[in-house]
Amino acid sequence: MQQFENLRASQLLCPRCRIAQPVRERLLLVLPGAELYDYRCTVCGTSCGSREAKAGPMSVDSARAAVAQVAAARKKLA
Ligand SMILES: [Zn+2]
Repeated sequence: MQQFENLRASQLLCPRCRIAQPVRERLLLVLPGAELYDYRCTVCGTSCGSREAKAGPMSVDSARAAVAQVAAARKKLA
């Protein structure tokens, strides 16, 4: 989700609680050139968003692969 890029969020709108809640940042994936973080509501545990911290330029192909890996990781977590 682009809106969380370059932002260390401490509170995000939780889709389940329907209000801004404190979130826990967890490292979801480490990729070549990027790290993906997932933000989870500390109250209900619902994922409120994710952030990609880029360590360098990322190609379109590796970005697509990262999106696919996040989707796969989400399924495992659900
Ligand atoms: Zn919540």
